Amino acid sequence: MKLLHVKKVIVADKVRLAGTVKLESSEQEIELYFEYPERFANFVNESADAFVPALLLPAMSKGENLEIAGSISEKLFRNLEIIQNIFHQWYPSHLKKVLVHAESLTKLEKNSSQKVGSFFSLGVDSFYTLLKHVNAKNNSGPALSHLIYMKGLERPLHVYKHGQEQEVISRVTDVANQTGTDCIVGETNIRDHFRLSWGPHYHGAGLASVALSLSAGLESVLIPSTDFYKNIFPWGTSPLLDHLWSTEKTNVVHDGSEAQRSEKIIYSLAKAPLAMKHLRVCTNNAGGMNNCGTCPKCVRTMLPLVISGDLDKATTFPDRLPSNWTRIVQINEAHDLPHAEVFLQLAKDFNADKKLIKALEDKIENGRAALFCKGRNFAAIQASVFHFYLIKQTIDLIKHPLKNTLKRMSVLEAGQRSRLRQSLRAMLSLGKRGPSRQLEEPAMPSEPTTREA
Ligand SMILES: [Zn+2]
Repeated sequence: MKLLHVKKVIVADKVRLAGTVKLESSEQEIELYFEYPERFANFVNESADAFVPALLLPAMSKGENLEIAGSISEKLFRNLEIIQNIFHQWYPSHLKKVLVHAESLTKLEKNSSQKVGSFFSLGVDSFYTLLKHVNAKNNSGPALSHLIYMKGLERPLHVYKHGQEQEVISRVTDVANQTGTDCIVGETNIRDHFRLSWGPHYHGAGLASVALSLSAGLESVLIPSTDFYKNIFPWGTSPLLDHLWSTEKTNVVHDGSEAQRSEKIIYSLAKAPLAMKHLRVCTNNAGGMNNCGTCPKCVRTMLPLVISGDLDKATTFPDRLPSNWTRIVQINEAHDLPHAEVFLQLAKDFNADKKLIKALEDKIENGRAALFCKGRNFAAIQASVFHFYLIKQTIDLIKHPLKNTLKRMSVLEAGQRSRLRQSLRAMLSLGKRGPSRQLEEPAMPSEPTTREA
């Protein structure tokens, strides 16, 4: 795979950074692009850097070496080995290590603009990062200055046939206006050319490529975290990975892993009317605004709001959970379990409805059992159940005699208890001397283990 050349052009009030790519497996060249309103022309960096994250994962997926005509950031290049190691360990059969060659490496000058962007799609993680960083007083670094919404990231560009993104863009713009930030609304086709899973593989690299395309204007770009530190697992955006896409010019920052999703909702979003007015999480809307209220992501968002009594504030959601919500919230993978456990803990902390707490407890118990059985064969499960049965029988056998003894001890007078303790101590000390005394005794002739004929 080869990036042949990069160009920055301004056409019809848009600025476009385009890269021409030649794949080993195809005769045709393809064009990848990032496009923004012309007023952001000074933000767009005419460099190959943005195409490195955009192309590395596709190259690893195809097993093709990556060749870059032109210069790229030295810092970025040095981290490509670690990035490849992480992805290859996570997905050894899907993402193979490849050679990366760039025509030259440049130690770029630091961007001193003090401008900070954050990806913003009106979701839980986006709002949490916005609310955390919009006020400079809450943070050591500069305040958030730009929200970035890119058509073509959440879904490939060809999905947007009905203009369903227009209401989303209108609401993102409203949030930017209300928070004193500027809004960068752009478009990219990087998801239209490669068959990579967005979440597990391409998520972080895709966002990083957009961040680096704007590196002439932004000192840092925040990627709102998908998950929390306690629950790090293989995923395209991760606190292990995202910062490794940084250049000398622009820091790519993974933000928000200190809080679990439900905690973000209850302790941050539910207290912000702007978030409750515009929150959008649904996976059934093909990039549009609607929250269906019945998909797993909608239910996982509504549940914490029900627990804290805030669901009526969230005007973009139905006013109640669907009756079958326990079936919709699934514990299919080990990393689903910590989320359900946080739901349960929050439900207890907020004294939520007892039926809801019981439903969560049952869900977690069943989930643990299902995860235990997953990947084990029937014989191994039978053996485990048999061991459990044996332990339980043994406990049942000694439980009552032990209870009776303890009960009898509790009715003894103080003097009797003291004598009993002394007797026990004497028995224990005899037990300690036992082995050495046995050694002094003459060894008994052992019995023959086989009979003589
Ligand atoms: Zn939904």
